[in-house]
Amino acid sequence: MRLVLDELAEKEATKTMQTHETVIHAGRLLATPGEAPRRGQSVWIAGGKIKSVASGFIDPPSGARLIDLKDKFVLPGLIDCHVHLTAQLGADYRLRLVEDTDPKVALDAAQRAQVTLAAGFTTVRDVGALTPEVIYALRAAIAEGKVPGPRILCVGAILSPTGGHGPAYGYRGDVCACIQSNIGVCDGIDACRRAVRAQVAQGADAIKFVATGGVLSNLRAGVDQQFTDDEIRTIIETAHRLGRPVSAHAHGAAGINAALAAGVDSIEHGSFLDDQSIKLFLEHRAFHTPTIIAGMTVLEMAQRGGALTPAQTEKALGVGEHIKQALARSYRAGVRITFGTDMGVGPHGQNAREFALMAEAGMTSADAIKAATVNAAELLDIADVAGSLAPGKSADIIAVDGDPLGDVTELERVTFVMARGVRATIGGMS
Ligand SMILES: [Zn+2]
Repeated sequence: MRLVLDELAEKEATKTMQTHETVIHAGRLLATPGEAPRRGQSVWIAGGKIKSVASGFIDPPSGARLIDLKDKFVLPGLIDCHVHLTAQLGADYRLRLVEDTDPKVALDAAQRAQVTLAAGFTTVRDVGALTPEVIYALRAAIAEGKVPGPRILCVGAILSPTGGHGPAYGYRGDVCACIQSNIGVCDGIDACRRAVRAQVAQGADAIKFVATGGVLSNLRAGVDQQFTDDEIRTIIETAHRLGRPVSAHAHGAAGINAALAAGVDSIEHGSFLDDQSIKLFLEHRAFHTPTIIAGMTVLEMAQRGGALTPAQTEKALGVGEHIKQALARSYRAGVRITFGTDMGVGPHGQNAREFALMAEAGMTSADAIKAATVNAAELLDIADVAGSLAPGKSADIIAVDGDPLGDVTELERVTFVMARGVRATIGGMS
């Protein structure tokens, strides 16, 4: 009985926070990235959503609280389209895979969600977990206000052919089977169709498949195309029929181009994209999610030694630097860019470090911010909820002290975070 009462009290508390009205006075407000920021704006929040955005500093209605951000730059909460909350690469990663129970993985993932939110990321897309149940549970717990964290959209398991990128390798066969759910492994058209439907049945918001090999699978299988063209077409067609956007993990050009030609919504990494890729990106209006920081992280690990296996090291040295060059090329050509970090490779909570790398690839601050808000929301199919601050949208709001349009690395130092109308604690575990 006590437990039930506590639960009710907790639900009530969450409800109160969300129904509480709030007015934010913003010194500068970038309500819609891509447009110009405005000085002296008020954002009125009710029920976790934005009620209005108005010029000048309006008085809060009686009973509403006022948050004074008059000396800050206020913008929509950031969106990372590519994270893995159930993972954290490190020297002991291969041991963690066999030692950690699912409950341990879930609690670790919850802590990573919290530091990600504290860093200003109010929405993330988890693009692959070895145990999808964990990420679905975390998505629900956050949505119900029980655990602090960003809104999570997820793909469940990554779809991979047998021997493809994604699953665990290099342990005894029965240990490999223990570590991962095989639900994402599929070969041939029928199995690919079934695998997409199985992800959706389990609760996937989107589908992710491996169009090519990847760096971190412990297998000497390169980073070129893995699924056949007809398997790729089947996956994309089946997912779209079920209303799910599709992302393709892809390094080699043949895999990138096969996925783009079949109508994929985004290419993740895109390391070795070529002229044909650019043509297809533009023709299909697909997004490029580069995740430069992941390439740099595995490159550093490979050079330092100790953490990666020989097969991983070989591929990390080959791919590492190319992602930044790929972004420079796609951005210059006018391809639409979405923000993603592949955190889980790099350390969760440091997602905003990707912005500096995007700038090094030639992106303007305004376009990098747009990639992490407006564009990301469009790719994730949540443009009616997130990505900009407008009436009816979720009150996902962050603030920084400086001007991120002048120096995009200001976003590494977020000083205010609100997610779905609830103010988040900055500074992670404090
Ligand atoms: Zn990834």
